[in-house]
Amino acid sequence: MAEELKREQEAEPTTTPGAPGEVTMEKIVSLCKRRGLIFPSSEIYGGLGSTWDYGPLGVELKNNVKAAWWQTVVYGRDDMEGLDAAILMHPRVWEASGHVECFNDPMVDCKECKKRFRADDIAGQKCPECGGELTEARQFNLMFRTHAGPVEESASVVYLRPETAQGIFVNFDNVRQSMRQKLPFGIAQIGKAFRNEITPGNFTFRTREFEQMEIEFFVKPGEDEKWFDYWVEERLGWYHRYGIRPERLRLRPHGPQELAHYARACVDVEYLFPMGWSELEGIANRTDYDLRRHSEFAKKDLSYFDEEEKRRYFPYVIEPSAGADRATLAFLMDAYREDVIAGRPRAYLAFHPALAPVKVAILPLLRNRPEVVAMARNIHAGLRKRWKTIYNDTAGIGRLYRRQDEIGTPFCITVDVQSLDDGQVTVRWRDTTAQDRIAADHIPMYLAERLEAE
Ligand code: ATP
Repeated sequence: MAEELKREQEAEPTTTPGAPGEVTMEKIVSLCKRRGLIFPSSEIYGGLGSTWDYGPLGVELKNNVKAAWWQTVVYGRDDMEGLDAAILMHPRVWEASGHVECFNDPMVDCKECKKRFRADDIAGQKCPECGGELTEARQFNLMFRTHAGPVEESASVVYLRPETAQGIFVNFDNVRQSMRQKLPFGIAQIGKAFRNEITPGNFTFRTREFEQMEIEFFVKPGEDEKWFDYWVEERLGWYHRYGIRPERLRLRPHGPQELAHYARACVDVEYLFPMGWSELEGIANRTDYDLRRHSEFAKKDLSYFDEEEKRRYFPYVIEPSAGADRATLAFLMDAYREDVIAGRPRAYLAFHPALAPVKVAILPLLRNRPEVVAMARNIHAGLRKRWKTIYNDTAGIGRLYRRQDEIGTPFCITVDVQSLDDGQVTVRWRDTTAQDRIAADHIPMYLAERLEAE
C-alpha cells in the first residue's frame, strides 16, 4: 500500500486552470491539442477556420466510436445491412431529395464589419459584433459545388454530399435484392458529409466537413409510429451504454413548425455541452417521401412488393441520423473528470473501455534492469496483437500513470523485480487507481473480461 501511495505521489498535477471539476470547452480543446487527440487543421499556415484534424489518439477514439455504433446497429442485428456509398453522386439526386431547392439557411451581412451571420441566430436588427447595420436576409445554399472532369461548365457540376442518407435511398433496391431482405429492414452507413455552414464553431461540434452515422430503416406504412418510438429508445440507450451520464442526455421532440414538410415526427437526442443543450442525433419519420421522389426523378420504380399482402407500396422510412464528430466530442466531454489522488490533483478521461484510444499501457518499473525490460516487452508483444497497447519507460511511474489517466487508458501494467521471481505483475485500474497483483499468464483473460464486457 505504501508503495502504491508513493507511486501516485510522484505524479505531477495534471489538471488545467479553471474551476475544479468544471468541464469547459477550453479545457477540452487544450487537452486535445496537448495529448494528440485533435489539432487545428493546417496549423502551420495559421489554420483554416473551424476545421480540425484528428491526431494519433483522436483517430483511435473516433474509430472506436464508429466501431461501437457499427457493432450495435449492424453486427448486433439481422435486420440491418451496411453500405459505403460514394461522396460524389449524380446531380439529379440532390434535385430529387429537395436539397438544390430547399437546403438553405437565411444569411445576413454586416454592412460595417462585413461579418456574416445566420439570420435565425440573431436576436435584434443590429450586428452582434459591432452594432452595425445588417443587410436583408438572403437564402444561402449549404451544398458545396464542384466540377467533375476538366471542363468547368454547368453540365459537369457535382456536389459534395451534404448527408450520407441519399446514398442509401438510391441503393435501396440493390441492397434489398442482393441481400434478400424483407421489410422491416435497414441500411446503415458511416461517411463524410459537407455543408458550407455560415457559422461553424464550438470546436468540432459544427464544422463544414464532418462524418455522419446514418440509418434508414424501411417499414410497412402503418407500422412507422411503432418503429419510430423503438428507434428513439434504442438510440438514446446506445449513448447510455457507452458511458454518457443519463442526466446529460435528453430527448427533444420537434414542434410542428420545425418539422420538414415531408416528416411526420422528429426527436433530437441532445447532450448538455458547455454551450447548452445541443443536438447529437436526429431521429425522423420521413414517411415515403424519399423513395417516391427518387422513383419519380430516376423513372425507376422503388416501391416494394409485399408477398404476404400481395400488393405494392412505398415503404416508410425511420431515420436515426447521428454525427460521428459530435458523438466523439460528447463522449470526450462527458468522460472528463478531476479528482485528487494521494494529495495531488489529477485529470482523467473515464472512457468506456470500448472507446478508450489506448486499452493498456505496459510500464516497467526499472528500465535499466534488462530482465525487467525483456519481460515487459514480451507482455507488450503479446497484448498488442489484440488491443491498442503502448510501452513506456521514459519517466517515473507516477508520472507515467498520470499521462495514461489523462488519455483515458483503462489499465496500466507494471513489471518489477519481484515479477522476475513470482511471474506476477501489477494491474492498475484508471478510475480508482486500485491495483491487482496477477500472474502474467492471466493478463489476456483478465483484460478480456474487463475490456470486452458488454
Ligand atoms: P444542426 O441543427 O445542428 O445544424 P441538423 O439538424 O441540420 O443539425 P441533420 O441534418 O439532422 O443536422 O444531420 C444529422 C446529424 O449530423 C446531426 O445530428 C449532427 O450530429 C451531424 N451534423 C450535422 N451538421 C453538422 C456539422 N456542421 N458539423 C458536425 N456535425 C454535423
